[in-house]
Amino acid sequence: APEFIIDGLKATVEGKEILKGLSLKIKGGEVHAVMGPNGTGKSTLASTIMGHPKYEVTEGSVSLNGEDVLEMAVDERARAGLFLAMQYPSEIAGVTNADFLRSAINARRGEGNEISLIKFIRQMEAKMKELEMNPEFMHRYLNEGFSGGEKKRNEILQMLMLEPSIVILDEIDSGLDIDALRIVATGVNAMRTEDRGFLIITHYQRLLNYIKPDFVHVMMQGRIVKSGGPELAERLENEGYDWIKEELGIVD
Ligand code: ADP
Ligand code: MG
Ligand code: MG
Repeated sequence: APEFIIDGLKATVEGKEILKGLSLKIKGGEVHAVMGPNGTGKSTLASTIMGHPKYEVTEGSVSLNGEDVLEMAVDERARAGLFLAMQYPSEIAGVTNADFLRSAINARRGEGNEISLIKFIRQMEAKMKELEMNPEFMHRYLNEGFSGGEKKRNEILQMLMLEPSIVILDEIDSGLDIDALRIVATGVNAMRTEDRGFLIITHYQRLLNYIKPDFVHVMMQGRIVKSGGPELAERLENEGYDWIKEELGIVD
């Protein structure tokens, strides 16, 4: 089972320190939720793990199965089994969804082990059906003109097809209506096995009614300040974040 360890991570964006010593350990079979107020660095955490060039790591480490993730190029991170569904997925002009996915899958499988076109199409069709996606999305340019909900479903399609070992979902629930949320959650829950760990970043507890986390972490001002079980998310939903600030003496 995979083991993903973030230890004392500090990162800056345009010279400003956003992550201030964040530690988190995720094993296969576990679902971890990270919740926190807006602007606290949740998306920065996701982007830093995936190696976005704007985010500079100044201290700490990130490892997957003992391998140094921070030493890997962005595509190597994906190949090693890290998957990120972004809060704002980008459009890629001129590349169809099918082309994009097939090359991503082949990059992950490695040279000489490419998926056959027929098998790929069959798998893609089956997964799109599970997600109740219109088959025409296969041939649309990646994210171009997709609605918010369509983009999110498409990210989940990528996750289903790529079979990553660590999945990071950044506010996958934002902009989804209840039906789309249920479909997305069903897709995620179907992927919960001992071979895969999840980091679910969310501002709202609502998502966690559909994807039950094993651990809930509160992030504030660039670190994890409190950890617990699902009951912690419920308390945040009812009482907000102020009680944690008071408890920890955080002034903002
Ligand atoms: P959250 O996801 O918790 O809402 P973010 O990680 O998006 O928080 O943002 C944390 C802080 O880092 C904010 O003050 C934000 O303005 C800043 N920040 C994040 N990304 C960038 C960026 N690419 N350029 C400039 N500032 C950024
Ligand atoms: Mg935000
Ligand atoms: Mg964010």
